[in-house]
Amino acid sequence: MKKIQMVDLGSQYEKIKPAIDSAITEVITNANFINGQEVINFSEDLKDYLGVNNVIPCANGTDALQIAMMALDLRPGDEVITPSFTYIATTEVIALLGLTPIFVEVNKDTFCIDIEAIEQAITPKTRAIVPVHLYGQASDMNAIMAIARKHNLFVIEDNAQAIGSDYHLSDGTVVKTGTIGDIGCTSFFPSKNLGCYGDGGALFTNNDQLAKKIKMIANHGQSKKYYHDVVGCNSRLDTIQAAVLRIKLRQLDNYIDARREVADYYDSIFGPMKGVKIPFRSHDSRHVFHQYTLTLDGFDRDALSEFLAKKDIPSMIYYPIPAHRQKMFDSFGTASLNLPVTDWLTKRVISLPIHTEMQIEQLDLITKTVVEYLNN
Ligand SMILES: *Cc1c(COP(=O)(O)O)cnc(C)c1O
Repeated sequence: MKKIQMVDLGSQYEKIKPAIDSAITEVITNANFINGQEVINFSEDLKDYLGVNNVIPCANGTDALQIAMMALDLRPGDEVITPSFTYIATTEVIALLGLTPIFVEVNKDTFCIDIEAIEQAITPKTRAIVPVHLYGQASDMNAIMAIARKHNLFVIEDNAQAIGSDYHLSDGTVVKTGTIGDIGCTSFFPSKNLGCYGDGGALFTNNDQLAKKIKMIANHGQSKKYYHDVVGCNSRLDTIQAAVLRIKLRQLDNYIDARREVADYYDSIFGPMKGVKIPFRSHDSRHVFHQYTLTLDGFDRDALSEFLAKKDIPSMIYYPIPAHRQKMFDSFGTASLNLPVTDWLTKRVISLPIHTEMQIEQLDLITKTVVEYLNN
């Protein structure tokens, strides 16, 4: 049996090695490292896959979120509503731009932003909502878009963990997550569901005007060569990474299926167990299982993690400290916020290994070991 890892990118590479190697070699041979043809080709392919009007690649997922907020002209003092139970990048860029992060609760079942909490957090200064499709499950976008329309707010989807997920809109159409709000952002960090071999990211939008502005901001605010209209940044996807992503995009649906099979297996073992909550699956969306996260009630989560580690089984806590309690936000005084669900979850969640190359023997060992701990 192979060593169990949270993500096994080496084994995944073995299966696509010839295509990857020749694509990378071609980029090097052509020496088209920056804004090469593969960047254009990949953006077109991803546009078709997502069914969105515009895909603008950039350097990483954090940049994508920052550029999105810049493109929407959010200004210092503007309030941005976001869950505290997320990866720090979502919330960090809000503060970086001088905006005010308004941290709200997540739903205990879906781990995604709580709808009632959004409504309660809205003030005259609110400009945007940033839902995070955490662990690969979509936020309640139908409700979020209705609130945004009612209060005239922008919606930026943090889709870094849910690329490829289908979402059922209330009008009956099915669309991809990240294409519902004004702007969708994603990351191609190696371990993400669609990951490259370094850093990468992208923004999606159906609004062509907004797309032009995003492109300009990501390229030094440049409208034409050496004419800089707005303050921007330098955020590009390397051609080599685009070449890798183009090959992996063709596998994305297979990769999602593989992840879902792992989740089904885990569900079948843990579903019947008392005090163990398996991931909720919303009927509005197709969970793409970036993470498989259990919520343990009445067990010592950290002791389980140590028990697994002793048997060479990795596990992770996403995320042990919620954003509103990070020192980073001391000046906003958010640590004293009352977010009981968020605090409750940070003490009880544990994510088990899930990736595209899991072997049945590995799953068998992981589940048996978890069950052994829980039954003791
Ligand atoms: C990974 C991730 C990001 C940031 O992406 P990077 O490419 O690492 O900058 C942002 N938000 C969420 C929810 C993520 O999981």
